Amino acid sequence: MSVAVPSLEKELRARFGEELVLDGVPAAYLSDATEARGLRGRADAVVLPGTAAEVAEVVAWCYEHDAPITPRGGGTGFAGGAVPLGGVVLGLERLRGIRSIEPLLWRMEVEAGVTTAHVRRLARENGLLFPPDPGAAEQSQIGGNVATNAGGPHAFKYGVTGDWVNGVEAVVAPGELVAVGGAIRKDVAGYDLKSLLVGSEGTLGIVTSVWLSLAPAPEAVAPVVSLHAGTAEGCEALARVLGSGLPVAALEYLDAETVRRSAGSFPVPLGSGFLVLAEVDGSAEEVARLREAVLEAVGEDALSVWAPETAAEVASLWRWRDGVSLAVQVERGGKVSEDIVVPFDRLAEAIEETLAIGARNDLAACSWGHAGDGNLHSTFMIDPGNEAERSRADRAAEELFDLAVRLGGSISGEHGLGLVKGGQLERQWSPAAFALHRSIKSVFDPKGLLNPGKKR
Ligand SMILES: Cc1cc2nc3c(=O)[nH]c(=O)nc-3n(C[C@H](O)[C@H](O)[C@H](O)COP(=O)(O)OP(=O)(O)OC[C@H]3O[C@@H](n4cnc5c(N)ncnc54)[C@H](O)[C@@H]3O)c2cc1C
Repeated sequence: MSVAVPSLEKELRARFGEELVLDGVPAAYLSDATEARGLRGRADAVVLPGTAAEVAEVVAWCYEHDAPITPRGGGTGFAGGAVPLGGVVLGLERLRGIRSIEPLLWRMEVEAGVTTAHVRRLARENGLLFPPDPGAAEQSQIGGNVATNAGGPHAFKYGVTGDWVNGVEAVVAPGELVAVGGAIRKDVAGYDLKSLLVGSEGTLGIVTSVWLSLAPAPEAVAPVVSLHAGTAEGCEALARVLGSGLPVAALEYLDAETVRRSAGSFPVPLGSGFLVLAEVDGSAEEVARLREAVLEAVGEDALSVWAPETAAEVASLWRWRDGVSLAVQVERGGKVSEDIVVPFDRLAEAIEETLAIGARNDLAACSWGHAGDGNLHSTFMIDPGNEAERSRADRAAEELFDLAVRLGGSISGEHGLGLVKGGQLERQWSPAAFALHRSIKSVFDPKGLLNPGKKR
């Protein structure tokens, strides 16, 4: 999209001053986690407002001057949503206020730029839990989590970010600060505008603050890790856990190819095979009982089992799990990783098909993910500097999206459409549903200036 203002940065500096508008456009504002697949955008200016009122003023100015706006959180997105295609990058990193925290009422209100890890730490320090746990928590921001409706391993029991959002304060076109919901736990008064903003990837409004629900922290947690001979055996173990009715908090898998690439940093020596990770939580008594039941369910045909007992061991297990994505990436320096979802009973098929798609496109492939939610991170390894590999990986991703739709699933379970899945929604949804999607965008953003080129 072309920018109507010839020297956007100069004009913005004149209007908002040097404190808000950076001198030049640092490279760090032009990419997100899709850099590993070679994506890099362009921008004319970077603006870093410090308050919600300033966000509203910047949006009003941009809207008046037809300048596109790309909201940016921590830049950890895997869909290229924060990769700008020209115009203004609006970074939320200075909105770091904790507006309120009320442990006895199980709630807090925080500004968009507070990191996910900080929100989780604040909850924990007050004996509470903020369950959403996307893997780049030290860098991602709560505003970015809300904008992508981020999930994570514990979404299986606790749901995704949106399930913990009671209210959203956002700047909508042409520069109005609005609040929907708030410090209330129920609200069916109007259309669910809050939920429209959640997961809208910066295309309907800029989130400036959110009211979050918290839960009492469980007294104990107990993960169980088991290795199985192959995908079929691993998926049978997963099905036994699910079918036994055990209320597991997280139910994860790594296929054998992912285990091979990440075993080196596993907290204890790990063999080869298909890995299942099931975690239970609750009171100490309940956890002891559930842990035995999980051990029985996965143990039936497991090659080996590890059930860490100390808090340090459990922490090191989850640190390793957070690092799996990077461990896989280092092999070739880059990867194209998509986050399709399939019905649970089609998981084994999707895992095997990921490998077959990789082979057809002459790319090493693997997958891991949130098995309980049927959510795969299907991954193709590439050298980001190799154009032929990049385009083969794009073709592989297209095949993956076809697979998801064919199996009755979705092209995205947690990363969103962003830039990289442009045009895919139309293949998943009926024409009438897709037309509604487009109409909603034009009602919120008649000039099409909010994160253009994304979520379409
Ligand atoms: C190692 C690693 C592990 C990950 N694990 C998970 C996981 O388990 N689950 C998961 O869901 N994701 C995961 N992710 C992806 C990513 O962390 C999430 O999508 C996260 O929610 C992005 O937050 P962010 O602040 O970095 O947003 P950004 O990447 O900056 O932006 C993401 C999108 O949100 C928009 N946006 C950002 N802030 C705002 C705002 N305040 N208002 C409006 N729009 C905004 C942007 O325009 C963009 O479209 C992982 C990423 C990495 C690198």
